[in-house]
Order: sequence, then C-alpha cells, then structure tokens
Amino acid sequence: MKKAVIIGGGISGLATAYLLREKAAARGLHLDMTLLEKERRTGGKMWSIKDEGYLCEWGPNGFLDSKPQTLELCAQLGISDLLLRSNDDARKRFIFSGGMLHRLPENGVKFFMSKLISWPGKLRLAMEPFAPAPPPGVDETLAAFGRRRLGKEALQKLIAPMVSGIFAGDPETMSLKSCFPRIAELERDYGGLVMAMLRLARKKRRERAEGKVVSSAAGPGGVLTSFREGIQQLTDLIAARLGCETVCTGQSVTSVRTGESVPYRVTTETGEFDADLVIIAAPSYAAADILHELDQEVASVLTEIPSAPMTVVCFGYERDDIVHDLIGFGYLIPREEGMNILGTLWDSSIFENRAPDGYILLRSMMGGACFPEYGQLPDEEVVRRVRDDLKTTMGITGAPAFIRIFRHEKAIPQYTVGHGGRLRAIDEKLQSHPGLLLTGNSYRGVGLNDCVAAAVRAAEQGVAYLTGR
Ligand SMILES: Cc1cc2nc3c(=O)[nH]c(=O)nc-3n(C[C@H](O)[C@H](O)[C@H](O)COP(=O)(O)OP(=O)(O)OC[C@H]3O[C@@H](n4cnc5c(N)ncnc54)[C@H](O)[C@@H]3O)c2cc1C
Repeated sequence: MKKAVIIGGGISGLATAYLLREKAAARGLHLDMTLLEKERRTGGKMWSIKDEGYLCEWGPNGFLDSKPQTLELCAQLGISDLLLRSNDDARKRFIFSGGMLHRLPENGVKFFMSKLISWPGKLRLAMEPFAPAPPPGVDETLAAFGRRRLGKEALQKLIAPMVSGIFAGDPETMSLKSCFPRIAELERDYGGLVMAMLRLARKKRRERAEGKVVSSAAGPGGVLTSFREGIQQLTDLIAARLGCETVCTGQSVTSVRTGESVPYRVTTETGEFDADLVIIAAPSYAAADILHELDQEVASVLTEIPSAPMTVVCFGYERDDIVHDLIGFGYLIPREEGMNILGTLWDSSIFENRAPDGYILLRSMMGGACFPEYGQLPDEEVVRRVRDDLKTTMGITGAPAFIRIFRHEKAIPQYTVGHGGRLRAIDEKLQSHPGLLLTGNSYRGVGLNDCVAAAVRAAEQGVAYLTGR
C-alpha cells in the first residue's frame, strides 16, 4: 500500500487529503495516509470562536460563491444543505473617504452619481481606454498599474482598499500578475479594462441569445457564503470525514528528508513517518524550515515570500446604543484617511447567529503590510485606536460591551513583485524531488476558493505520481 503524508491541517491540507483519498480510491488505489498538524486543533486560519453568545471569526468569515471550487467541495462532502448565504444587504459595501462612508457603486450610472471619486478623478477614469500599454517584460506593481490605467485617485480609493481587503497588502509592492492574474489577462487580450467589459458583455449577450447558460455573479464578486456555526464548520467536517486515524494533531514537522527504503522520511518533534508522496500544505515560511536539509535552494526561495501581520478586533454592542443602520457588509479605508484600522466588517449584519439577540458584532482589521508595527501595540492601545476610528467612521461613542482581540503574526502571504519568478524557480527545483508537492495560500491565491482549487491540483498531481499516470 502506498503511503502519503500531508503536512498542515488548514483548509489547504484538509481539502488536499480528502480529495487525494477520493481520487486515489476512484483509481482503485487505497492509500495509507497521514495528515500532520502542528497545533492541537485543525483549521489553521479558519477558527470560529463562540464566546458570550458572539461568534467571532479569527480569520476568514466566508468564501464567495462566484467561483465554484469550495461549493463543489461542499457538494462532494454532502454538506451543501449546511451552507449559510450572507444577507442580501451584504451586497452594499462602503469606502470611508473625506469624512463619510460612500457606498461602492455597483454600475456605471451609479458610479458617475457617486461622490466617492471627484469629477477630475472620474474624467481620468474615463480616459482608461487610452491608457498606455504595460511596459514590456516588467512585473508591474498594482500601484503602477492603477496609476497608469485608472489614475491616482482611483488607485487610492478603489484599488488600494481592495488590496488591503484581500491581502492586507501594500499596492506599491504587490505584483499585478500574481495577485490579480485575470486583470492582467484582460488588459493583454482586450487592450484595456473598459474594452474588456464591453466585449465580454457582448459575448454574454450573444451566448444567451444562442440559448447557452451564462453565469451571472450576484453582486460585485458573488455572495459571501459560510455556515451557521462559522466557517470553521467546513474544516471540522473535513477533519471528521478523514477520521482521527488519518489526522494527527500536535505533530510539528521538523524535516522531510530522503528515506532509505521509501522515497521520503518525515520527522516530527515526536516521531517519524515514511512516505511515497509528501504534500506540504503548511505556509511557505514553515515549508522553508521543513525542506532546509533536503534542498537548501528551494528553502531559500521559499523564505523570499513575505507575510503581513494582522490584528482582528471584535467589538460587541447593544443594538440600541448604535445610531448607524448597519445595513451592508462594512467598509474599507484608504490609507490617505490617516486611520488606524484598515476597515470594519459588520459581521452580525452579514450573517445570522453572529451576536446575541439585541446585540451587534463589528470586526475591525488593523496592521497589514502598510502598518506592520501595529502588530506590537498592547491591547489597551489597540482598543483605544479602534474606538477612535469607529467614532470617526460610524459615530460610535459608547464603550463596547464585548471585546476580543486576535493577533496573526503572519496573517496573509504577500505576492510581491518577482513572485511569479519565485514560483517558477520552486517548480523547477521540485522536479528533482518527484513525489514532493507544495500547496496552500502562499503560492497561487489566498482566498478559500484559491486554496481549494490548489488542493484539487495537488490531489490530481499526487494520484498521477502514485499511479504513474
Ligand atoms: C484575518 C483573515 C481574514 C481572512 N478573510 C478571508 C475571507 O473572508 N475569505 C477568504 O476566502 N479568505 C480569507 N482569508 C484568507 C484565508 O483564510 C487563508 O488564505 C486560508 O485559510 C489559508 O489556508 P491554508 O490551509 O493554506 O493555511 P493555514 O490556514 O495557515 O494552515 C496551515 C496549517 O499548517 C500548520 N503548520 C504550520 N507549520 C507546520 C509544521 N511544521 N508541521 C505541521 N503543521 C504545520 C499550521 O498550524 C496551520 O494549521 C483571511 C485570512 C486572514 C488571516
């Protein structure tokens, strides 16, 4: 029987293990599989903490249904009926600018009516079709792309907040091609974003007229989807399906080396495991330590992928103490506004069952690549700064009835300029270690859908390797 070891029990490792077992069984291959997780719990960044009737998400609060990967995984697991869709009003997203919250316009007409972007800024945006082409052969930053195509104001008020919302990243260092490959493709294939939107809309109309099924995402990026008991329900359910004979927690892997009778020997702080196939789904900085002895060159490239810290601050309030209507998803704040927080999610407006009756839950984010030093602030200072910002942005003056602070020293990997080259170097070097694969959020997407898509690829490659096909 072939032996497989998966390292890391976040969504990437758990989904990879589950899919690997399913795909192997479909080919008549029964695996002896072990998943090794450093912590006493599985889930990694997916951690839904119930406390005093509030449901606080330590990390992600859901995935978007505009991409199929996580929905398909839930269907395979037979848990689609447990999914919880965000409330309809969560389509309303806001940007705090010039002392007020502006609703992010959903279409062109509303955009021109909105006061978020000034008239000179709108005029500059209207010039997008005439923007110069990207400099050839350059891995352009998101900021350079924004300035070139959309102008400085759109960069500050639209692109930078989006980058901070997804990556907690700094657009001046992040790579367009690695963070948003689809946008780079649209520019390459259609010569610009407006051109791409027009041509794609025309294509959709044609396909509809021909009777084809055409996807239409609800809202800007689809509907946020989770579970009644929080997003951790997904990783809990996968771990339960894999069973405790497969999932070993409290096992920190220290190295993967070449084995004597089998290709690889995986060492943890307390034991050793032989493996024909090893899939590392731990973050790149952990993979670097694990692979240091086996291949210093791979380890060295892995250490070049940085991560940004983030502090997640949950405040609960009595509903009657808040004047704001809280109808929507929440808001992001451009850096130029000089606030401490990156934005606030109105968690109890997005999903049901997030706060006790008569109370609300707000979740503010602090830090990221632009303000890494905020990760060191003591709790009292974090609370003071978040309260100051909630007063300015939402007019909240009272003290919260409930406070929880969650700190991520390494929250989200940063796909900075050169990331694509680093991935090519890693792939090339891994050619000399057949049966050793890397997956997870450090490489080709940080969203839960991206992690599941990468897990599908890793499981397929793993089975192909084990079956020699
Ligand atoms: C605050 C925050 C909010 C987010 N919000 C969203 C959101 O709303 N929607 C969305 O789609 N995405 C969101 N993300 C991103 C998403 O949560 C992550 O990209 C995703 O959960 C990463 O999963 P992973 O399994 O790749 O990594 P992780 O969850 O980091 O799991 C890696 C696992 O490897 C383990 N490990 C590390 N070293 C070792 C070792 N030596 N031996 C064994 N095990 C080891 C770790 O303990 C961990 O359990 C958010 C992220 C953060 C931090």
